[in-house]
Amino acid sequence: MMIGFPCLMYYFWVSLEYHQGKIYYPQTFTFEGIRSFILHEIVEKVVADAAPNWTATKIYMGYIVYSFILAYIMPGPIVEGLPIPSLKGKRLKYLCNGLSSWYLTLVLAAVLHLTGVFRLTEIIDNFGRIMSVAIIWGFTLTALVQIDSIIKGNSHRLSGNFFYDFFMGYPLNPRIGHVDLKMWAEIRVPWPILFFLSVSCLIKQYELTGVVTGPACFMVLAHFLYVNACQKGEECIPTSWDIFYEKDGFMLIFWNMAGVPFTYCYASIYLMKYQLTTGKAITHSLPYTATLFVVLLLAYYFFDTGNSQKNRFRMEQNGSFFARNAFPQLPYGHIKNPTYIKTEHGNLLLTSGWWGVVRKPHYTADLTMSLCWGLITGAGSFLPYFYFCFFVVVLTHRTKRDMERCEKKYGKDWERYCERVPYILIPYVF
Ligand code: NDP
Repeated sequence: MMIGFPCLMYYFWVSLEYHQGKIYYPQTFTFEGIRSFILHEIVEKVVADAAPNWTATKIYMGYIVYSFILAYIMPGPIVEGLPIPSLKGKRLKYLCNGLSSWYLTLVLAAVLHLTGVFRLTEIIDNFGRIMSVAIIWGFTLTALVQIDSIIKGNSHRLSGNFFYDFFMGYPLNPRIGHVDLKMWAEIRVPWPILFFLSVSCLIKQYELTGVVTGPACFMVLAHFLYVNACQKGEECIPTSWDIFYEKDGFMLIFWNMAGVPFTYCYASIYLMKYQLTTGKAITHSLPYTATLFVVLLLAYYFFDTGNSQKNRFRMEQNGSFFARNAFPQLPYGHIKNPTYIKTEHGNLLLTSGWWGVVRKPHYTADLTMSLCWGLITGAGSFLPYFYFCFFVVVLTHRTKRDMERCEKKYGKDWERYCERVPYILIPYVF
């Protein structure tokens, strides 16, 4: 996977850049045919147009450093995470300044663009090169975090297999000062970059053709909703699985630094490239486009409230809940007097709200949104559907691991919970 991810990203980049998002392959499947295909169709193109350069390094690493500094200094509430068994039940503090950083970034980006100091179209103009810098940075940061963990002796659940441990990670909660590296990497880097990539495509489309299309606006809205949700609900993140359980290894670091922003964006890039190369914009009938807007907003509603119902419930249990007015606060995001199953372990399992309907309501909503990101581009290319397909695999794997973990942790209480909420993703179906 560690070799395959970057290769796949380059293969898809060539597809978008040179083949209108089409799947392309060697003309003959002989050794010579495959060798020549890799060399001439991929490597030469990557070297010519996607090799890292100083401009791309400044853009990407500039943003990385900038976002880290904001995570360090911007104001925001402080919440306590869950008790960590390996730290003898200690609860770490998290400074949740994602929202103030996000608003500042939006203003700054507009100022930089309008004054011409940094035009946002530079992001898409340098896409391949920035992606390469991100890939190199993903490996570098993983190695740095691993070395730091070995020096500090705070590695966890190691298997002894170097490659597996590099992939899954060494430390659980690496920090620089008070900044939690996992939380910073998870919400400050990938989603804002993804959003600005979509904005960059939209502005490029407008500058070159004088119009913006419904699907391009759809993608900007979709990415705005996602990034905004992460920032405005940041205080819920310390009680999520990535923070309390996953270690900080290649899987999280690479995916956050490079994978998410540079593969989840295919729909936006495809829409723009298609129009620029064929001269025709991808548009759909009004009912089709309107339906997708409605489905996206509905799915977002369930995604937002599903996550906040469970995380706020958990925050109430551990005494870290506080009401926040970050926009938008949606109805039913916080359940008063919820029903739950009390476990012998001490934790409560929520059975109210969407959590009484299925066991992973936020996954269903998230998957629906990801499907919409593909559907808005039509059926001309697989690439805009890559995120959805990949996400199905990720969430299936996560659900399986999570269920096994909960079964072990809660035993008979988990069985009771599964009887009470028998379906995982779709009521009466699965
Ligand atoms: P969850 O938020 O589902 O966390 C799982 C944990 O929640 C379980 O281990 C359990 O922990 C607790 N839990 C499970 N059921 C209940 C319940 N009924 N009541 C109370 N606690 C419960 O997992 P994720 O962190 O995977 O997902 C968070 C969000 O992030 C989702 O919306 C997901 O779609 C999104 N996501 C997006 C990705 C992307 O690339 N776009 C990638 C991964 C996630 P405990 O031990 O405390 O009981």
